[in-house]
Amino acid sequence: MADAPRLRDLYAARRRIAGVATRTPLVPSPSLAARAGAEVLLKLETVQPTGAFKLRGAANAVAALDEAARARGVVCCSTGNHGRAVAYAAGASGVRAIACLSALVPAVKVEAIEALGAEVRRVGRSQDEAQLEVDRLVADESMVEIPPFDHADVIAGQGTIGLELFEDRPDLETIVVPLSGGGLVGGIALAAKAIHPGVRVVAISMDRGAAMAASLAAGRPVEVEEVASLADSLGGGIGLCNRYTFELCRRLVDDVILLDEAEIYRGMRALFRDDRIVCEGGCAVGPAAVLAGKLRLAGPTAMIISGRNVDMDQFAAVAAGEPVRLGDRVVAG
Ligand SMILES: *Cc1c(COP(=O)(O)O)cnc(C)c1O
Repeated sequence: MADAPRLRDLYAARRRIAGVATRTPLVPSPSLAARAGAEVLLKLETVQPTGAFKLRGAANAVAALDEAARARGVVCCSTGNHGRAVAYAAGASGVRAIACLSALVPAVKVEAIEALGAEVRRVGRSQDEAQLEVDRLVADESMVEIPPFDHADVIAGQGTIGLELFEDRPDLETIVVPLSGGGLVGGIALAAKAIHPGVRVVAISMDRGAAMAASLAAGRPVEVEEVASLADSLGGGIGLCNRYTFELCRRLVDDVILLDEAEIYRGMRALFRDDRIVCEGGCAVGPAAVLAGKLRLAGPTAMIISGRNVDMDQFAAVAAGEPVRLGDRVVAG
């Protein structure tokens, strides 16, 4: 098992992912600046070829494979942005990729991953059963699993965002990051605190089903019940045997903010109406926290707009200000 990532691993990642992942723009948001009373800059990971930042970590993990591992190929069981990222990164480097997905994963998601060149294996009726097939491919066929966040190369890849931020704006005082498993904020904070120790790193999740936030509060990794959320890409556990991201978050994240669904809804809607950005609920949490009055800013602030792979029917409803059904709840602004 590799050691925990360090700043030099992030610079190495930067070189390795060039040409696969995009160096993304950092653009001002005048409307958020007016609300916050501070300069607000949006880091647009929405323009990555797969629509989300996870391509950085996956591309770095694929690039780090040795020849023998490249020949055997990579596996994952993500249905979302990580699955797309692994499929794309492997395809771009001519490495075989298998995505193990449960029979319950909707056809559109399966097709999106197949279209990026990965083989899809439908197994079982849950993510856990799909994970068993991943474990079997690792054990029996020596394929390499690329996990979505708790992996040194993946964290280093996500951390390249932090390097780019300070190249563009060495004067940043605050960085605001959506939080799920903590690979994104962990990598960025690693870069940020090494380059500019005084910077404040704020992580944001939804107020129900946020495993890392609950784990940080408990002082150890804990499980939480998953709840349907507009921020669906922020759901999922952190693993009771978490190796890296829990420690990174505990050490380097200054504040954690939690938002309810109505607050996330208003963030998505504002980002669309004021900044013309189509994004997932999970990416609108920074703007949402400002609008909700839960995030006070002083000095130049960067917000990571992490992905745009939103269900378009849901997005259209939010953009129009109409109520959205989430499981047995209805959410409106
Ligand atoms: C995965 C993901 C996140 C959270 O990243 P972690 O490394 O799991 O904390 C945020 N936004 C989007 C769009 C994602 O796909």
